[in-house]
Amino acid sequence: MKKVSLHWQILIGMGLGVIYGLVSATAGWSQFTSNWVAPFGDIFLNLLKVIAVPLIVGSIITGVASLSDIRKLSRIGGKTLVIYIGTTAFAITIGLLMVNILQPGKAVPHVLQQQLQTTYQADAVSGMDQAEEAKSRGPLQIFVDIIPTNIVGAAGDNRNMLKVVVFSLLFGLALVMTPQKQAKPLIDVFASLTTVVIKIVQMIMIMAPIGVFGLIAKTINEVASDDIGAAVKLLGALGFYCFVVIGGLVFHAVITYPLLLKVFTSISILNFFHAISPAQLLAFSTSSSGATLPVTMEVCQKRVGVSKEVSSFVLPLGATINMDGTALYQAVAAVFIAQAIGMSLDIGAQLQILLTAVFASIGAAAVPGAGLIILVIILEAVGVPTAGIALVLGVDRILDMCRTAVNVTGDATVATVVASMENGLNPPDSNGEEI
Ligand code: ASP
Repeated sequence: MKKVSLHWQILIGMGLGVIYGLVSATAGWSQFTSNWVAPFGDIFLNLLKVIAVPLIVGSIITGVASLSDIRKLSRIGGKTLVIYIGTTAFAITIGLLMVNILQPGKAVPHVLQQQLQTTYQADAVSGMDQAEEAKSRGPLQIFVDIIPTNIVGAAGDNRNMLKVVVFSLLFGLALVMTPQKQAKPLIDVFASLTTVVIKIVQMIMIMAPIGVFGLIAKTINEVASDDIGAAVKLLGALGFYCFVVIGGLVFHAVITYPLLLKVFTSISILNFFHAISPAQLLAFSTSSSGATLPVTMEVCQKRVGVSKEVSSFVLPLGATINMDGTALYQAVAAVFIAQAIGMSLDIGAQLQILLTAVFASIGAAAVPGAGLIILVIILEAVGVPTAGIALVLGVDRILDMCRTAVNVTGDATVATVVASMENGLNPPDSNGEEI
């Protein structure tokens, strides 16, 4: 019997999760759902998270060490950074254009604004506390922050993935510069580590449909609890805002990325999207590009045909610094809040949003909700009251799912483009291997 492909398995899990979540919210089963259904989602998510650090360390070190040529590394690194930052700036521009033309903030009735502010005030304050520290930093602090002071400490928290990436790059570079005889045993160890971790990914993916079912049911349970009416009302009120964010994300995913692929590669766009769909669906279900990274790497290597040399370096870096979806969302959210409270932002302020959002998305951790916390920095930069974050908190989870899917699509696109430029793209004949 033909095996059901992974993206279908995940889609079925998601569909059943939505149905179950809605039934649970309507029937008032929220306690049962959080005790007996949500844990399956958490187990799946924890499994993905636990292998993220070994995978990053193993693949970056092996990837860099295999280049054996510093010039090649700096060329690939340079191209990757330019395309990552260029696509992020473009995504922000799309968001800014849409939010300024459609003006969703003007559609929020005054009464609702006040209601949302009161309902989410407490949550907004706790989010602001976390961002408080980031706010008071100098412009170069971001560079200080990416250098770990203790590698074990940095590897102990998935929010510090960028530090682990930096250390692994340094380690890989040092291996390239070390005489072959001494370097080889270590390179073999890390290559073997990567292979074993990939095996673990394949084992974890066996439970993907159940895990995704649990995650989606849990999300609906958290958003709707036992009062689905209230959730629907909130969605209705902020529907126009969500529409603008999602519209921008869809535009970026179906126009910008395919254009890039068309110009720089010979890959079929449909095959590309089909090949990476398991990673997109997983990003949507987990809201974490970090947790999705193992699968992004698998699909890019085996189903898109991106060489190990490129994918093992470009993708872990992308998961931590390249967040087009997050940046686009932050731009829309900042202007939306300003519009809703009747503040107008001139062209200078909009440019400031563009610049800050590029850095804010680089600094956002690849975990659920990170984009919202960092939004405070952008609001501060343009003088919009940070308490306004309460306006968008209620629908953040849903938008987080969508922007994370775009973040991961962006990483896969750039990896494919860079691979093609480096003659490292060999698409498999059909849709590639199943993982
Ligand atoms: N959840 C997003 C990610 O992991 C980050 C964010 O926008 O909150 O890519």
